Amino acid sequence: MADANGSQAAVIPVSILERPVTAVKGIGSVRARLLARLGVTTIGELIALQPRRVERRGPEVALPELPAHLGGFVHVRTRVAGTRLVRRGGRSILRVSLVALDGPGRTEAVYFNQAYLRDRFEDGRELHLYGRVVKTPQLGLVAPRVVRDDDPPPGALELIYPLTEGLGRTQLRGFVDAALELARPELVEHLEAETLERLELPDLPTAYLETHRPSSVELLKNGLRRLRLESALEVQARLAGQRRARADGDAPRLGCDDGLRERILAQLPFEPTAAQRRVFAELEHDLARSAPMRRLLQGDVGSGKTVCALFAAALAANGGAQCALLAPTEVLAEQHYATERGRLAGLGIKCALLTGSMRAATRRKVLEHLASGQLACVFGTHTLLSDDVRFARLGVAIVDEQHRFGVLQRERLFAKGRDVHQLLVTATPIPRTLARTLWADLDVSVVDELPPGRAPARTHVLGLDQFERVAKHVDARLALGERAFWIAPRIESSAVGRGAEEIAEELGRTPLGRHGIELVHGRIAPRERAQRLDRFRRGESSLVVGTTVLEVGIDVPEATAIVVEGADRLGTAQLHQLRGRVGRGGGEAWCFLLAGSDAARERIGWLDRVHDGFEVAERDLARRGMGDLLGERQAGSNSEGLGDGEPDLELWLAARDLVATRPELARRYAARVTSR
Ligand code: ADP
Ligand code: MG
Repeated sequence: MADANGSQAAVIPVSILERPVTAVKGIGSVRARLLARLGVTTIGELIALQPRRVERRGPEVALPELPAHLGGFVHVRTRVAGTRLVRRGGRSILRVSLVALDGPGRTEAVYFNQAYLRDRFEDGRELHLYGRVVKTPQLGLVAPRVVRDDDPPPGALELIYPLTEGLGRTQLRGFVDAALELARPELVEHLEAETLERLELPDLPTAYLETHRPSSVELLKNGLRRLRLESALEVQARLAGQRRARADGDAPRLGCDDGLRERILAQLPFEPTAAQRRVFAELEHDLARSAPMRRLLQGDVGSGKTVCALFAAALAANGGAQCALLAPTEVLAEQHYATERGRLAGLGIKCALLTGSMRAATRRKVLEHLASGQLACVFGTHTLLSDDVRFARLGVAIVDEQHRFGVLQRERLFAKGRDVHQLLVTATPIPRTLARTLWADLDVSVVDELPPGRAPARTHVLGLDQFERVAKHVDARLALGERAFWIAPRIESSAVGRGAEEIAEELGRTPLGRHGIELVHGRIAPRERAQRLDRFRRGESSLVVGTTVLEVGIDVPEATAIVVEGADRLGTAQLHQLRGRVGRGGGEAWCFLLAGSDAARERIGWLDRVHDGFEVAERDLARRGMGDLLGERQAGSNSEGLGDGEPDLELWLAARDLVATRPELARRYAARVTSR
């Protein structure tokens, strides 16, 4: 294998960092698959793997000192003085008597249900053990490890990497070490010393070493920051590249005039709000230019962003281009199709739906018509991204709930045309200041006004014991002909809370059952799911019990109440999305967030006062990492424990400035991204 790799390298000089993990000794296809579960496929990703936590190894102690370390971890050097195996039922306890190598003291090691270890402890064998001191009932070590040469020494910092079944801690640490060794020649610092000094960061080789073999927690943290700067530089370099490419684009110029604008507005059953009109004008301006649009459309749930998408689609079709709208769920794609197809038809524009659960024959026909250009507009799910979906002249691509897609997924859609106008729609807004700094290449539109008569859902954060009171309230609303949602984080019940299935059953036994209950979750076949939601929409049943598949987009004006059980297990931005599902018809609406513990209610309690999506987002952001924000979680990264969770704005701004002022640096990092 070394040969094959070697000769390949001679033809195409592949960076060591780009090589597959199998280039590391000891990693074959099986372990490579295990690593892939951690998001690690290359050497570069392996050395960038971030530990979840760091722990300090216990000290080495002499046996007489053990009592002082009860409950803690220690290293001891001992000799085996006999073993005893007790079997009881199917269980076993192995007791290994231990004496000090020289000097006084004795103790024992205890292993439960590991009788097979007995042979390892032959009398007189010298052992270096590491384990926790417990009462056995004398003082002993419970299931201590036999320390190996490559284990961290007493008192050293030990990194706890994310684990996956079948891949042990020590093994993973060994692989990371080996990968570091291989990569060492390529770990070169390209930033200037004074830049690093200003940011108080170590150079790259040091950063990698300190991340995996830290000499102190402080240096470890700084090392991690330096690696984060590395990702930031890559992202910023790519953005800069996109900005440049955009300046001299060749996008279709899609004009609009008073006549067309009037005809579009005539299709709407309502008067657009001032905010919507402003966005229409912004879209008109962007789409008329040959520089491709890159616009982020933000607006709180229910603010009416969908008609803005319709507006862009109409301009595309009118200008002889095609438009694609990508939605994160089938339910949402279907709903958009259902509401917009009539409006588009009224403008003489043909559109179609494309989802994964469609019949093959129907799908083939849609693909044909997209490729030939007969179809001007398509609404679809992820399936729009597959290779067999081709467009005659894709001019406008719209990504609804854009944060639900990764950067690369979005790019795959945009790549289906040349210089495609891009509209990214989201109700989980990126705080304005951040959007401007991170995504400087995006123009931002904001729908900052709810349609008239719309009041935010009154939110109550309650204990699970309030179940009956809440059910009564919902029952009263349904009796008035209104509709409601009842949400659980999971399908099945577990120790942490009830699942949607059980709730549906239980509610069916209460008076609520008479209003008709539909159970909707991800394991119900899409066709069946659509039928259930249709019955709900038509009012044949009035209560939907489901999981967060209902989170995005569902638009049923008659819905006035939503209950979320186990609300503390969902993110606050997600809860805000969910409550945006009710009160869309104007009039009063309620949101009940049920959570078990006081602490849980405390964490989400502020939602009863905060109704502005931007503020929810800002508060939510404090708890999420930057990678999440950019929609591209870093491979294997994990901010628990070590990543400080706070977005490191300073690093992002620094990356942006560096890329802007040092073209050779920008080129270097951009090249690295495109070679992936
Ligand atoms: P979101 O911004 O969450 O995607 P939608 O586009 O789904 O919101 O709109 C929510 C609801 O508000 C829909 O039923 C839509 O028809 C309605 N709506 C949108 N704009 C207006 C308006 N200007 N006046 C009245 N109703 C509107
Ligand atoms: Mg929407």
